[in-house]
Amino acid sequence: MNNYVTEAINLKSYNLNDADKIIVMYSKDNGLIKGVAKGIKKPKSKLGARMDLLVANSLQLLKGRSMDTIVQAQTVNNFKKTREDIDKLMYSSYVSELVVNFGEGTEAISKDIYDLLYKALNRISLVETKKDALIAVIKFQLKLLLFMGFCVELDTCLCCRERVLDEEMFFSSQMGGIVCIECNEHLGVKLKMHHKIRDFLEAMLQFDFDYESDYDRKATEKVCQVCFNLLDEYIKIHTNRKTKTTKVLQELTV
Ligand SMILES: [Zn+2]
Repeated sequence: MNNYVTEAINLKSYNLNDADKIIVMYSKDNGLIKGVAKGIKKPKSKLGARMDLLVANSLQLLKGRSMDTIVQAQTVNNFKKTREDIDKLMYSSYVSELVVNFGEGTEAISKDIYDLLYKALNRISLVETKKDALIAVIKFQLKLLLFMGFCVELDTCLCCRERVLDEEMFFSSQMGGIVCIECNEHLGVKLKMHHKIRDFLEAMLQFDFDYESDYDRKATEKVCQVCFNLLDEYIKIHTNRKTKTTKVLQELTV
């Protein structure tokens, strides 16, 4: 059979010619995939808005020699409320950009990444405040890093491997974790971190994506912004790429 079915979220698109586009998607079963959406630029396209960015579809694709073709699409979720809100659109673009940057070669864990992406986009579309949108993004950053094997070390000092119990510690974006005050005398990491921020990040990493803990409720927008920035810094170092949306997000949340 040359046809296959999967669920996928549209992340990027390119023009192929006057009528067709190539859609880059993250799929539940095959990780990052590309599919040709034939006739999508014509007014009466049967695929229509289903091929818009940030839409989750149940798809049928035809395997091609160089590229697959999207035969049928049925929308699972178009995250409607995100389309009416510029902040939500930016946060959603950020998480989808991370999946494009990290997604290559993740077929073996594609179900985990797909579910995480879906939950993050869904949560962002439904939240009422900027703080709650940021919390969804932070959970997404931490869990994506965990799946990719770049998990942030928040429990023990990266140098002496002791549990850090002090009020203050340091966070190294270069090494991806915390360093105790003593070890930092030699290392000279600049970014100081209060244990409350560490505890918050630890909770965001450990709890299920959908679980709303006391940490979620008590965190302020400012704390969330600090956490977002330091995780983004770490991600930038490890992907060697800047996400286009980061700068806009930082400006939005000042
Ligand atoms: Zn140490």
